[in-house]
Amino acid sequence: MDQLQAILQRTFGYTTLREGQRPVMEQLLAGRDVLSVMPTGAGKSLCYQLPALAMPGITLVVSPLISLMKDQVESLIHCGVAAAYLNSSLTERQYALALRYAGEGRYKLIYVAPERLDTPGFLRFAAGTPISMVAVDEAHCVSQWGQDFRPSYLKIPDFLAKLPRRPVVGAFTATATPEVRQDIERGLGLQTPFEIVSGFDRSNLFFVVEEPRDKKTALLRFLRQHQGESGIVYCNTRKNVDEVTELLRQDKWPVTRYHAGLEPEERRRNQEAFVYGSAAIMVATNAFGMGIDKPDVRFVVHYNMPKDLESYYQEAGRAGRDGEDAVCLLLYGGKDVVTNQFLIELRDEKDDSSEEAYQARVSRDLERLKQMTFYCHTQDCLRATILRYFGEKALGNCGKCGNCVGGDMEDVTDLGRILLQAVDQSGQRFGMGRIIEIVTGGDTGAVTSWSLDRLAVYGRLAGTSRDQLRAVLRLLVSQGCLIQTEGQYPVLVLGEKAGDVLQGRQKLFLRRKRSAKGQKAAEPVRESAGDEALLERLKAVRGRLARMRGVPAYVIFSDKTLREMSALRPTAVEQLRQISGVGEYKQSQYGKDFVACVQKYLQEKGEA
Ligand code: ADP
Ligand code: ZN
Repeated sequence: MDQLQAILQRTFGYTTLREGQRPVMEQLLAGRDVLSVMPTGAGKSLCYQLPALAMPGITLVVSPLISLMKDQVESLIHCGVAAAYLNSSLTERQYALALRYAGEGRYKLIYVAPERLDTPGFLRFAAGTPISMVAVDEAHCVSQWGQDFRPSYLKIPDFLAKLPRRPVVGAFTATATPEVRQDIERGLGLQTPFEIVSGFDRSNLFFVVEEPRDKKTALLRFLRQHQGESGIVYCNTRKNVDEVTELLRQDKWPVTRYHAGLEPEERRRNQEAFVYGSAAIMVATNAFGMGIDKPDVRFVVHYNMPKDLESYYQEAGRAGRDGEDAVCLLLYGGKDVVTNQFLIELRDEKDDSSEEAYQARVSRDLERLKQMTFYCHTQDCLRATILRYFGEKALGNCGKCGNCVGGDMEDVTDLGRILLQAVDQSGQRFGMGRIIEIVTGGDTGAVTSWSLDRLAVYGRLAGTSRDQLRAVLRLLVSQGCLIQTEGQYPVLVLGEKAGDVLQGRQKLFLRRKRSAKGQKAAEPVRESAGDEALLERLKAVRGRLARMRGVPAYVIFSDKTLREMSALRPTAVEQLRQISGVGEYKQSQYGKDFVACVQKYLQEKGEA
């Protein structure tokens, strides 16, 4: 067994490295800088934590968020690793003490806020202690193009230059376009780094888009299907956050909220309630999430459509970091598009960029919004749509998204043909609303003044629901039969594939709207390996241990570990090591409690 494997099993209790982890670790151990792009939940932290334990000396982890540091350090300590953090949450005395211990070499890993790097005290420590590696977490914060730019990240190369010996540097991020990757390489001064971009697919996430008539009802229905689970509901405005929070509160859900309009103290309290488990549901704006490492988030609902797929995938990706099944539901509404357009075109007073730069940004963002909207309308596999957007090849049928599962196909070729004729006959100058008005025989001033009631298609589809027609129009757009123009008043014109449908060479199929019941069936059924009653008891033991130690439950054991335990039903501490997530330290610290729980359970059932 090689060294990495041995540490993996002993300290972290895992059996195998995940895809992409080993090459990163091996390069770092060989002394080569690394730039690693991995989707959220893929297991970035282990990529530096494990080599840190294999190297002599100390590893510094530069991390932008205090909450994240605290989390990671607690998790490490509960794996028996000597770790600490240095940031503004410590009092002066605590900080001085931690720095002294660090200088004495008591810690293997030290998490540090970027602002600390050029403070005299820290520099003195760093110069006097052997530092083998610097891992830069959320490395995209160095890029001035991103939304998460942190000027203090730019100090990192200066800091490295001040060290007696340059340590190997690893940069880690979940979001990086080629430009941002370049920024990271330059901004951090990486030396011919080994670059690795891991697959973006998150196979345990189930994606669904719904366009409900009433989002509130849809949300409540969804939550009832996910009783007892922890999740995030993202809204686009503070006002929506407050409204949805109130809605859920009235319906007696254990809910809390987060947005930039709240006092820091309330934000901190609410975040903690969510992470530590006293409030299972977090309703928040996109201000919430970065640095939240809670691995057992079982669903992420978007109450509003975000502005681009980058944001969507990042936010939705906060579900299921533990690798267990989780659901990402997007509740789409046409109004979301308008709101986003407005926000994109808004010009900040402080924005002193040139008119040209402003226009360039707007048109780039509008294009992204278009792709996001396309995701909401597409009949194609949702996972494939996302992956293709990020430049990966993806086949069309994942079998694990709302579009691949459930819902009968309905032949709508006739509707499609008539709609195309309507666009053609009316001169390719109207938007969706007007086209629908024509085919349903609408009787408005516009219809008469443009003489649209004289068209052959006028009223041909009277009685068909507007929603259905809108869905078919969107299908026609996504199939290239129609093109929707840009601008404030988009109109429909015929696309190059229109002829295929008009002349009967291509049929059109629309997925029939799922009923509430169908929706449920379409979602993944969590494998119920294991014993549910025992699982509940094991969770209770975990909760007690977590409270005693003042840490989130998942720091003790993940849901996945407990599930395996409930299936294996270990009655001796030694058996625990067969379970993923149980390393040496956790076995010795908590083993007895869990084994006792299993034994008692079996006795009561008369099986022991
Ligand atoms: P990221 O930082 O990439 O979002 P994390 O480092 O938080 O992801 O890892 C996500 C989860 O996966 C954590 O609970 C972590 O312990 C777990 N994990 C990471 N690597 C492995 C592995 N090789 N085997 C099993 N679980 C792993
Ligand atoms: Zn799919």
